[in-house]
Parts: sequence; C-alpha cells; structure tokens
Amino acid sequence: MFEIDKELIELSKEVEKEIKEQIEEVEKNCMINSIKVLDAFQKNKVSDVHFGSTTGYGYNDIGRDCIEKIFAQILEAEDSLVRSQFISGTHALTVALFALLRPGDTLLSITGKPYDTLDEIIGITPNKSSLKSFNINYEQIDLKENDFNYEKIENIIKKEKIKVIEIQRSKGYSTRESLCINKLEKVIKLIKSINKEIIVMVDNCYCEFVETKSPIEVGADIIVGSLIKNLGGGIAPNGAYIAGRQDLVELSAERLTSPGQGKEVGPTLGINKSILQGVYMAPSVVANSIKTAIYASRMLEKLGYNVSPKFNEKRADIVQNIEFGNAEKLIKYCQGIQMGSAIDSNSVPEPWNMPGYNDKVIMASGSFTQGSSIEISCDGPIRPPYIAYMQGSLTYEYGKLAVLTAINNIKK
Ligand SMILES: *Cc1c(COP(=O)(O)O)cnc(C)c1O
Repeated sequence: MFEIDKELIELSKEVEKEIKEQIEEVEKNCMINSIKVLDAFQKNKVSDVHFGSTTGYGYNDIGRDCIEKIFAQILEAEDSLVRSQFISGTHALTVALFALLRPGDTLLSITGKPYDTLDEIIGITPNKSSLKSFNINYEQIDLKENDFNYEKIENIIKKEKIKVIEIQRSKGYSTRESLCINKLEKVIKLIKSINKEIIVMVDNCYCEFVETKSPIEVGADIIVGSLIKNLGGGIAPNGAYIAGRQDLVELSAERLTSPGQGKEVGPTLGINKSILQGVYMAPSVVANSIKTAIYASRMLEKLGYNVSPKFNEKRADIVQNIEFGNAEKLIKYCQGIQMGSAIDSNSVPEPWNMPGYNDKVIMASGSFTQGSSIEISCDGPIRPPYIAYMQGSLTYEYGKLAVLTAINNIKK
C-alpha cells in the first residue's frame, strides 16, 4: 500500500531511537496539561446540559458561559471570550486591537514585524480600515539574537507613551525562533517595572499547551489564539478566543458584538459540545503534533536539510521549519504532505495569492476542518530561502505517515 523506500524505513527506525528522550518530555507536559483541563471540567461541573444549543441572540447560553469559565481557568485568566463568531485568529487579534486602542494611541510590537495578516490591520500595508486610518500609531522593535531587545524596549517606554505592547510568540513566516515562556516572563517584568499601565497583549497562536504555563501567569494582560489551532483539539469547527484581565475581555466583547451587549449575546448554534470535546483533547493532540514535529526535524536533518528547531531544542510552538533552498522541493514536500493526509489526498496544492499575504503561498491541509493547522498541514511563502512551515497532526502515527510520504515525494 505505502510505497516508502526501504532506506527511508531504516532511517525512520534509527530516528525514533534518537528522539526517545524528547518524546518522553512531551508526554510529561501532556500529563500536566491534562490534569489542568480535567480539573477545569470538574470545577465547572460540566454536564450534558452544557451541550445544548442557542439560536437568535443567544441569551442565557449556559454552555457558552461554562466554556468561557473553563478557558479562563486553563489559561489562568480572569475571564475569556470563546466564540465561533470569531472567523479566525486574525479576526480575534483585530477585535482585541480595535478594542484596546483609541485615536492617538500607540501600538508597539517588540517581536519585529507581526504575522503577515496583521499588515493591513495595523496599516503597514495601506488599508482604509486599518488602525492607522483611525490615527493609531505603530512602532516596532526587532528581536536581537532571538531574544527581546531589552535596551531598546526600556528606552522607548521611558520616553514615549505606549498604550499596548504586542508580543507574538510563534515565528509566523519568519526564520526567528519562537519565544518560550521564560523569555516572556523576563520582558514583561521589565515592562511592568517601568510602567504598569501598558497593556501587554500576546499573540499565543500555536503555543497553547506546548509548555505548561500560560502567558497570563507570567504577567500578560490579554492573550489571543485560534480554535482551528491548538486549543480546538482538532474538533472545534471554527472560532477563536481572547482571555485575560476581566476589563479587557469586556472591551473585546463589546467590540465583537456591540457596546452594551458584550458577552451576553452570541448564539452557539450547536457547537458547544465540539468546543468542549476539543479542549478536552487538546493536551494530547498538541503532544502528538509536537512528536510529529520532532520526528520530522530529525528525519530531515539527517537527510541534509537545515531545520529549526532541531529535534533536541526547546520548543515554544508546534511549528517545524524545514529549509529547502529552492521552490521546487518546497512545493514537492507540501504536495507530499497533502498526499499523505486522509482528506483530499488526491488534490495537488499549488502556490496562490492568498488574501492578506504578500507573497504567493502554498498550503497543504488535507484536513477535516478547512484550513485547520492543528491537523497535519504544511505551508510556506514562495520566497527564498524556501522554508516549509509544517505543523499539527491529530495523532503521531498519521503525522509520521505524512512526513514519510512527503520525503518520498521529494526524492522521486
Ligand atoms: C495562525 C496565526 C495567526 C492568525 O490566525 P488565523 O486563524 O490563521 O487567522 C496569527 N498569528 C500567528 C502567530 C499565527 O500562527
């Protein structure tokens, strides 16, 4: 059935021996995170009444309220907003930014240029509906040697009035490292020691349950993530979350719905059970994704490619970079991941001009949920040095099969 060449199977066996220690570490974190989730379900007395549905305005949706308490507890936040009315992670980030910033305010990114889809939101790429069009200023400090540029951050917040600082943990389509929780802790301490009023907002996409601490525990005020990534556990059909300080979550709710209605409205249309089941599965699903990433990292390193992170490096997110050096190999690898998926395995992804992105992007996502990247998926902008960003897999075994198929496809 699977025509994987013999040498590759041998290499795979060797790799699995080498990555044992890292896999055990992943399982340890998975246990700690599972305890956290189970405790949240029990404390909030989840029962099948919470699987019910609301329509129309969605008043008194006890399932929705219960979900938001569970997310708050898991993320160590005062409150959360978990909604399918968020179309994507990008949308939730937009809502949070427009909720927190007012004309004349300044937004500062301390992790360099944010994720591609934020360009038009901020106004880095002109757009008539950007923050910039509302007279909201933007400044940026690049990372320095894969860490924060503490000196520059200190200078700017002592000199200028900054309203919101944005920290993006995952690397996005860049080559920098993703940021672990202890680096976040150090920089947030510095920021708060100079000015407690600055709101620290964290783009937490791809990072939930990779480590055992939430950014809120180390001082972040508000965090944002997508439900078709880690916390959706591959089961939530769509949506995103915002969690953090109660007053900031309220501002966000009033921006998502309307001033005065806030969190009180929002029909769930039957998805409560899926969201609950998704977050219940999330620790294991994230662990399987990281195992797949570790496996792919070592396999491709042994085949001579530059990879980041290496199999034995600390991880902050579920993303694995593989540098192919030319467009053809990148495209073949992504197409191979698609061939090795369960859904749409016979479609062939091609690079295209995706809305919100500046370069052509190829995206392989043979997934149950359209565009889901907690399921095995691989994408990359067609620009040097032609890096594939691979992430997800609901199980390690399916992840491994997809990686083997993709390697086979570039060797052909
Ligand atoms: C995926 C991602 C986003 C955007 O999420 P979408 O749901 O794809 O809109 C934002 N920031 C980072 C770091 C991401 O990885």
